[in-house]
Amino acid sequence: MKAVVARRGRLFIDDHRTDPVPGVGQVLVRTLACGICGSDLHALHHMHTMIELNARAGGKTTVDPEGEIVLGHEFCAEVLEHGPGTESRLKPGTRVVSVPYAAGPQGMELVGFSHRFPGGFGERMVLTEAMLLEVPNGLSSALAAMTEPFAVGAHAVSLARMDEHRVPLVMGCGPVGLAVIAALKSRGYGPIIACDFSPERRRIAEELGADVVLNPAQSSPFECWTSFDVPATLAEQSVAAQLGRKSKRPTIFECTGAPGVLSQMFKMAPPLTRIVVVGTCQTPESLEPGLAITKQLSLEFALAYSSDEFASVLADIAQGRINAAAALTSTVGLNEIPQAFESLRSPGAHAKIIVEPA
Ligand SMILES: [Zn+2]
Repeated sequence: MKAVVARRGRLFIDDHRTDPVPGVGQVLVRTLACGICGSDLHALHHMHTMIELNARAGGKTTVDPEGEIVLGHEFCAEVLEHGPGTESRLKPGTRVVSVPYAAGPQGMELVGFSHRFPGGFGERMVLTEAMLLEVPNGLSSALAAMTEPFAVGAHAVSLARMDEHRVPLVMGCGPVGLAVIAALKSRGYGPIIACDFSPERRRIAEELGADVVLNPAQSSPFECWTSFDVPATLAEQSVAAQLGRKSKRPTIFECTGAPGVLSQMFKMAPPLTRIVVVGTCQTPESLEPGLAITKQLSLEFALAYSSDEFASVLADIAQGRINAAAALTSTVGLNEIPQAFESLRSPGAHAKIIVEPA
């Protein structure tokens, strides 16, 4: 098969890569579409750090940072052939999506972050039959491939335990922030405040359902609360409580992953803010617990999604509750992946780039 291979910080095109072979319970598929994720960019240049972080978090990895990897975990594919021990539930030709996990001889591995399970930047993949979801009739492969990144937003919003008294602020409108906005909108929470430096991303945020979109270069997102009836101090909160009113409370989704943003939130967030961290900041950060206690801030960290969240996002996209097309800024072929990675390194112009190998 043809595939784009990542090795030691570089991408190269391999026209004659060995096709993966489906093992027990697995299905060989042909890649139809695959999104480029921020974590692909990170993996390309910082594979060592990723593996080391995963190990410190108690994870086990089978990835050799010096080895070759076919990246790509946000995919839609077509069933080609069933391996041994499968039920052949979905006929060849069926278009499918799947959470990017596969069981190998050494346990669970991530499709697209594995030497055994090449990802969607190659023409063929091997997926676990039990995890395949058929693409509902008519949904394009490119939009179906966006189930994965949008599922990240659905999970973050589940963790946030939203209700009608919560006012959400989404910091950063890259793919992660956009997914959070879409999930909030599809579940009817709002008004949704969003902010980003990029005009293009602010425009997409609006299309996905943000009600108020701020440019942080012009107005501080931390000063927007008064217009949404959020008490600025603990005293105001308790006055409201004494009057029997349930006052509004802020929920901030940190989707920038930029160094210093979280500590800034500790300083600037109103009391009783719930902060849900979805963007990954890769550097250590100094936080002031005393400040967080005084304001009774709460903090959640969101990673990935459950398979139920993944399935419901597929339905949300197919039935139009999530306008995934708004976040699709470009479609490229396999040959253009190295260039696409380059252009994603300076964020702002793009949200999601989808690779279509055919
Ligand atoms: Zn991803």
